[in-house]
Amino acid sequence: MDLNQLWQLTLSEMEVQLSRASFATWLKNSQLVDKREGIFYIALPNNFAKEWIENKYQKNILGIIRNFDSSARKLEFIVTNQEPKALTRKQVEVDFNKLDTQAGLDLVKIDPDTNLNPRYTLDSFIVGASNELAHAAASAIVHEVGSKYNPFFIYGGVGLGKTHLIQAIGNEIKNYYKGKLRPKYVSSEKFTSDVVWAIRNKRMEDMKKKYRDCDVLIIDDIQFIGGKEKTEEEFFHTFNALYENNKQIIISSDRPPQSIPTLEERLRSRFDGGLTADISYPEYEMRVAIIKNRLQISNRQLPDHVIDLVANSIKRNIRELEGVLNKILFYQEKKGTEIDKKTAQEIIEKSTQSFLGRITDDQILKAVADFYHTEVPNLIGRSRKKEMVEPRQVAMYLLRDILRMSYPYIGEKLGRDHTTVIHSFEKINQEINKNSPFNQKIIMIKESLYNKNQ
Ligand code: ADP
Ligand code: MG
Repeated sequence: MDLNQLWQLTLSEMEVQLSRASFATWLKNSQLVDKREGIFYIALPNNFAKEWIENKYQKNILGIIRNFDSSARKLEFIVTNQEPKALTRKQVEVDFNKLDTQAGLDLVKIDPDTNLNPRYTLDSFIVGASNELAHAAASAIVHEVGSKYNPFFIYGGVGLGKTHLIQAIGNEIKNYYKGKLRPKYVSSEKFTSDVVWAIRNKRMEDMKKKYRDCDVLIIDDIQFIGGKEKTEEEFFHTFNALYENNKQIIISSDRPPQSIPTLEERLRSRFDGGLTADISYPEYEMRVAIIKNRLQISNRQLPDHVIDLVANSIKRNIRELEGVLNKILFYQEKKGTEIDKKTAQEIIEKSTQSFLGRITDDQILKAVADFYHTEVPNLIGRSRKKEMVEPRQVAMYLLRDILRMSYPYIGEKLGRDHTTVIHSFEKINQEINKNSPFNQKIIMIKESLYNKNQ
């Protein structure tokens, strides 16, 4: 077996163990370049990847290599600096899923120069397995502004801390460089409305100046500029102008770059030269830590069993977790006594019900149809077209999973026998458990639903 084959095998084993973003970030551009006297030399694209892999995955990788080659004794990591390739300026069709906009109501104490909310800091960001990589990357960028990890792209579901983290980078940079480096934060909606305004008022030059006159541009929820051609165009030029001047660009999105077709196509080589990290659902310990941290900050108390109950009830959205916690604290304060388990349970049920209660079966079908770029009647119709099989099964799965509808009812809704529905549900369920890219699709569809219903 040659070195390349050996490395490909090792990578395929590692791919199973790592999240998609970690894998793409750390190992995608790696190579096994040499072996000498039991030492295996692995080339990595940057120091960040080197440090991370050395500390976290060295043992794993060595173990895997040993399975194939028992002479392996030690790994050495080396950094090869690849220049990002030239940009391709291919024009591609605009093809985004439109999502409802998220309200940014947090207007307190926002710094007018940077648009940053000082509440978001790295210190107040609780780290766990689900966001460790993103957090490490964020901290590293503060010391390497505009150079090594540019652009930085972070993605993950609603309420999982993207805005918090990217604003924290801005705040950190502002403080660390004592104002010498100027960050600027902007939501995609704001960027879009600025472009529209500038076009209407023939003030494009001002607009350009405004966004190019900073050292760190942070753009939140980039998926929302999808489909707005002029805004995309402007973003693209702004991006290039900043990038060429070694300014740091930080982007957040609800989906990975590969799933934003227009942007990705245009900026692919830039993204390859940068860093991508994902944030996924927080694990139990992290949810407890977040609750305890909030209690500590606000100097309040809750019995442990209530903390446990909240942490066990809200698993997918930290914003929602905070919302429920606030309601419970509010209730406790009003009553002046420690809250009991039953009341806490009721509050949780009410808030989570109202959250899910607004989702209807038709919305689910629409979300699935949108995701697969088709129409609802195609899901319901009798057609046996192969490309409809997966969307239809996913629709059945989600009707059951989210709304707990009965199999016969789902069957009726989609014009299928209830045994077919059971089979589809189980099939998708299995698929989710063994296949993480597939799971990612399901998460994205759910996210689009929850987003619209918040
Ligand atoms: P997103 O932008 O991904 O939708 P946000 O950054 O707005 O999510 O986070 C939602 C809320 O949860 C915010 O109040 C944020 O401060 C809090 N939050 C998210 N992740 C963390 C974390 N790891 N530690 C502490 N608070 C967090
Ligand atoms: Mg956000």
